[in-house]
Amino acid sequence: MTAHGLFINDEFVESVDRRTMVSVNPFSGETLGSYVRAGIADVERAVRAARTAFDEGPWPRMTRGERSEFLKKLSEAVKAHTDFLIHQDVADSGSTLKKATEDVYLSARFLSSCAKLGQELVDEPRADISRPGLSMNLLLHDPVGVVAAIIPWNFPLKMAVWKLGPALAAGNCVVLKPSEETPVTALELAQLVHQLGFPPGTVNIITGYGEDAGAALCRHPLVDKIAFTGSSKVGKLVMEAAAGTLKKITLECGGKSANIVLEDADRDIALDGTLYAMFYHQGQCCEAGTRLFLPDSIADAFMEQLVTRTATIRIGDPMDLSTDFGPLISQSQRDTVLRYIESGKKSGARLRCGGGIPDAPVCARGFFVEPTIFDNVDNSSTIAQEEIFGPVLSVIRYKTVDDAIRMANDCPYGLAGGVWSRNAERAMDIARRLRAGTVWINEWHLLHDRAPFGGFKQSGIGREFGVEGLREYTETKHVHIDETLTRDKKIWYDTVVPRR
Ligand code: NAD
Repeated sequence: MTAHGLFINDEFVESVDRRTMVSVNPFSGETLGSYVRAGIADVERAVRAARTAFDEGPWPRMTRGERSEFLKKLSEAVKAHTDFLIHQDVADSGSTLKKATEDVYLSARFLSSCAKLGQELVDEPRADISRPGLSMNLLLHDPVGVVAAIIPWNFPLKMAVWKLGPALAAGNCVVLKPSEETPVTALELAQLVHQLGFPPGTVNIITGYGEDAGAALCRHPLVDKIAFTGSSKVGKLVMEAAAGTLKKITLECGGKSANIVLEDADRDIALDGTLYAMFYHQGQCCEAGTRLFLPDSIADAFMEQLVTRTATIRIGDPMDLSTDFGPLISQSQRDTVLRYIESGKKSGARLRCGGGIPDAPVCARGFFVEPTIFDNVDNSSTIAQEEIFGPVLSVIRYKTVDDAIRMANDCPYGLAGGVWSRNAERAMDIARRLRAGTVWINEWHLLHDRAPFGGFKQSGIGREFGVEGLREYTETKHVHIDETLTRDKKIWYDTVVPRR
């Protein structure tokens, strides 16, 4: 399987102006390859292909069952190419082998889950408002139309299928733009879509930069909806650009999740959970537990153990199965993280471990930053308020649980949060009071294909996954049928029996 050009209307093509870009392996610093860089003219071609496919092609007119068969096949194809996709992902994104393996497995599972979910979204006769003998009322779930999906680099395959799965299940046609940092995986997915014979124009995948290709997609009048995942800063630009034609938008943006440890928490579980919440994928996860709230009574002892355990994290070659912690995505991301570390030092917080670039020879050419922990952080300081998107944990000590909740909510983000406790009632009380879209109790990072995921406040708009996520890719249509047609029940049922 080899990646080629832009995938538009079921063909791999050059860009109109022949521009290219490169992708760099974050561990070796080597160039992985040269990829086509889409410009405005290419966005035009891709959007028109999707528009024609939506307005005239078979995809939106298929039954839900027929679309579901395609999604099942795509899921099977991802499974069949597991090894290849894992290796591509590690090289392109710097994911560890462990993470990439999980990502490919979960991506295949998610597509298969969308295949099932799509069939559940049936048109509904509404008995509560229908008036027998006078009128019948129906709710239809139409696809929105042409969806522009724009995704980040931290989970290249998962992010792509999180958009494609529900958008396609609901009957939309899509133009997907992966991050310029990780063009490889999405193009491999394009190969699978091509091999499986999806109708031309149903899925289009264009590699390119946000400032030109991404922005052009958001402005394009023939795009009906933007499904964006990325930073809150770019999310705001997307919202502005979408306003021109009042497009539907879903924004899955950044986070600064509060991880609250209670006095009664199981210490071992809370320690390991805290490390996992923070340092999984080097802290490059939107839902990472980047603010740790510790009660004064246990903070000193907890911190001693946390620092000791942090030293056992195995940093190194992401292709090595024993590695826990790999490089950051790019030199520029590393520079950003190091700047935040300097800001933390200046803020008066106490640096307990990390703070620099690891000196092990294996890390010499990659974009590594050590797992870093600041203690005694002020919740109003920059490292507690801004999303760093790297391995920097801010520890904030608290006197009362009410204080902890107040500080946890005192932040522009509201994506996720977590509580560690042995007491279900206390933990649930905190879960209710946290202003966040997902709250874990004695767990972290676990998402469910059917549980809605998304953010409060500046973490975004809308939800992904499950029925709630699927509905974001539909328009609800109310059909009122007058008595002149509804008197004959037979005609009624023949006409409106839900299409599956
Ligand atoms: P980013 O916002 O820089 O880029 C995301 C995507 O937007 C990329 O494809 C980029 O090319 C594109 N883009 C950039 N400028 C654009 C513009 N003006 N118009 C349209 N598109 C544009 O984010 P990133 O650095 O790739 O990813 C990290 C961010 O993603 C973090 O903030 C993280 O929290 C967030 N994220 C959120 C979730 C979630 O589900 N909430 C999941 C993963 C990542």
